[in-house]
Amino acid sequence: MRVCIFGSGLSALTLAKALVKEKINVDLIYSNINNKINKSRTIGISKSNFDYINTNIVKIDKISWKLKKIEIFTENLKNEKILNFQNNEKQLFSIIKNFEFYDVINKSLINNKFFNKIKLKKKIKDFKDYNLIINTDYSSILTKKYFNKKIIKKYNSYAFTTIINHENVPNNIATQIFTKLGPIAFLPISKNETSIVYSIKGSLSKKQDLINLIHKYNIKYKIKKIGNIDSFELKSFALRSYYNKNILAFGDLLHRIHPLAGQGFNMTIRDIQILIKIIKEKTDIGLLVDSAVNKEFEKRTRHKNYIFLNGIDIIYEFFNFERRLNNSALSKYVKIIGKNSSLNKLLTKIADRGTLF
Ligand SMILES: Cc1cc2nc3c(=O)[nH]c(=O)nc-3n(C[C@H](O)[C@H](O)[C@H](O)COP(=O)(O)OP(=O)(O)OC[C@H]3O[C@@H](n4cnc5c(N)ncnc54)[C@H](O)[C@@H]3O)c2cc1C
Repeated sequence: MRVCIFGSGLSALTLAKALVKEKINVDLIYSNINNKINKSRTIGISKSNFDYINTNIVKIDKISWKLKKIEIFTENLKNEKILNFQNNEKQLFSIIKNFEFYDVINKSLINNKFFNKIKLKKKIKDFKDYNLIINTDYSSILTKKYFNKKIIKKYNSYAFTTIINHENVPNNIATQIFTKLGPIAFLPISKNETSIVYSIKGSLSKKQDLINLIHKYNIKYKIKKIGNIDSFELKSFALRSYYNKNILAFGDLLHRIHPLAGQGFNMTIRDIQILIKIIKEKTDIGLLVDSAVNKEFEKRTRHKNYIFLNGIDIIYEFFNFERRLNNSALSKYVKIIGKNSSLNKLLTKIADRGTLF
């Protein structure tokens, strides 16, 4: 069996590794632009996805930092804490630097006999050797041809990312503050490093504005240095159709969400597990792996991803609405219901597994 993957981002590499582990031949086709791995980006991985990656993809214990608690504050209640997610025995989330994760998977694939990395030189005319073609690349010809119809939402916001160096502290609690400009997250990655993701409505005219805002909302750290600042336009979308015959869209090309809950890549990891399960179910009973896999994949994931996408959007709009009203009644309400331990456990479970079941 042979699969072709277009793109060389995190989704492409993680999926490639999951497939070669099943002894499936993978040709990964990349173009020049596909090497932009950003050093200011970190990724939060939920506990269950962390376990899946560690067992099935690559060992990430050494490059990840475990978080036991996430605290949510709002500026509307004078930076009072409104929610608290905690797990005393194990981690809630782990934070990894994107480029380190990328390097580790890349290295683990290089000498794998089922894996082949091919640089795209010219148009590929013939895909008939492949059972499945999986596209993660926005710039590929397949995207323009088959995957341009989507349900899209533009937030008119930018996410600014950086890493701060600070004095050593026991750094196992992530903090998110819903500020008047948008949510700012402080995501610890070591005793003396914390990643910052600030999603700001509109944009900022100069770098110094962001630096001032970081100092304004930082209550924990004695900052020594603020690293490179990068920015990303924020939008969320889901493709109307996940596949065309045996060509499947995957990763951020398939669905993209607001980073406020750190779930974009977590959704892809869940997709990978479902896709591998479907392929195994077919091959175990001697069925051919073909477009039927894509059909089944869409059937099993589309509704879940759609609900998840909307759930994150509701959280965003909730705090956005309150900010516009300039009223703190909603936050007060969240604070009261957040104290309910059953509801808290429920929300933690959804953030971990993407579903209640
Ligand atoms: C600020 C921020 C914070 C995030 N935090 C988290 C988090 O904590 N947890 C989590 O689960 N998810 C998070 N996400 C989402 C996560 O980063 C993405 O889901 C993940 O990186 C997607 O990987 P990908 O390989 O699908 O896409 P990409 O890395 O975008 O790559 C897809 C393919 O397209 C190529 N490509 C990319 N951009 C272009 C372009 N402009 N032109 C041409 N080709 C291009 C790539 O090289 C690659 O081949 C965050 C996203 C943002 C923006």
